[in-house]
Amino acid sequence: MNQTLKNKFKAIEKNPTLTYLDSAASSLKIDDSVQSMVNYYETSGANISRGAYALGIETTQAYEASREVVAKYIGANKKEEIIFTKGTTQSMNMLAYHFEKVLKKGDEILSSELEHNAAILPFQRVAKSTGATLTYVALDKDLRIDSNKALNQITTKTKVIVLTYVSNVMGYITDLKPIIKKAQEVGAIVIVDAAQAAPHITIDVKDLGCDFLAFSGHKCFGPTGVGILYGRYDQLNQLVPSEVGGGMVDEVELYSHTYLELPERLEAGTPPIAEVIGLAPALNYILKIGHDTILNHSKKLQQYLLEALKERSYIKVYNPKSDIGIVTFNIQDVHAHDVQSFLSESNIAVRTGHHCAKLLQKRLKTSATIRVSFQIYNDTNDIDKLLDVLDTAYQFFRT
Ligand code: PMP
Repeated sequence: MNQTLKNKFKAIEKNPTLTYLDSAASSLKIDDSVQSMVNYYETSGANISRGAYALGIETTQAYEASREVVAKYIGANKKEEIIFTKGTTQSMNMLAYHFEKVLKKGDEILSSELEHNAAILPFQRVAKSTGATLTYVALDKDLRIDSNKALNQITTKTKVIVLTYVSNVMGYITDLKPIIKKAQEVGAIVIVDAAQAAPHITIDVKDLGCDFLAFSGHKCFGPTGVGILYGRYDQLNQLVPSEVGGGMVDEVELYSHTYLELPERLEAGTPPIAEVIGLAPALNYILKIGHDTILNHSKKLQQYLLEALKERSYIKVYNPKSDIGIVTFNIQDVHAHDVQSFLSESNIAVRTGHHCAKLLQKRLKTSATIRVSFQIYNDTNDIDKLLDVLDTAYQFFRT
């Protein structure tokens, strides 16, 4: 691990033997983020928006300042287009709740077999309960979303398109713009799962033209428990709140109630205040160093690993053409979980299994794979250590 970053990422300092290669699951947390949360708990602890006293007002200001940072991070028009959620999963479920009330039999939902369960399961449920048809876009021979073919699958029946911006297993960046353009022509809503895109590539929602976009703070050096639902104002304003309660309501009568304006309307109850505050320094750090720096660094490490794996005929790589620093592979005839036990003994953290992308795992014709994912704090020493243990594991299981 990059020792010069150990002040920024305390997990490196506190766990000096750790080789962390699982940033696609969750990145290490940047200390500025941790300290801002500690500061909130040590100096405030007040709720937002409700108390008209100084501490409540200051806390609300810090919370809203974070919303501004997120809006800037993804190029939103205004901060009211940003809703704080628990994570990508909750953002997707909030959208599904709405579309369950809107779609009907004969409508089509278009998605892909590359989706994370967090994106596809809510919309499978929408299809089931509304009678809408769920169809999957064509994948090319590398299992990448085939944008050209996808264009032909978008018709006037298509009402909602749910697609991943970056696959969490293959590391492919989806060519979303032509798809979104066609969707706009037929009046379909486009929902983008940007959970893996947010840490690695600059997101510009205005340029993309998507209607909704979701991501999680914990993959961007920020805290767990906070995520984002972005919606273009006119679209977001139509969303039926999936939760009602305090903080989002305007008038309450005996048998009815009215809602506040955005963004409060979609943030019922006490939100994860510390986590929202902690998100801002994490995103600001990425904005400061630039997504290009992160992507170039991850891609260099990815190339280094791919070159080394080429020399090992016992390894099958599933995504040699990954666009970001994700390498998914298996040791021939050895189960991924057995390899993981070996790696874990050497304090190497990788993800094994189906990576919550069960449809894709079926397309890969395997029950489990090993996924290595890089971030700014990784270096070639991490890879050398990984390779040593992979070689040892192979020798062990061969005999
Ligand atoms: N989508 C993708 C592409 C992901 O990688 C993840 C996290 N693994 C999610 C959605 C779900 O994110 P969360 O668990 O933070 O809700």
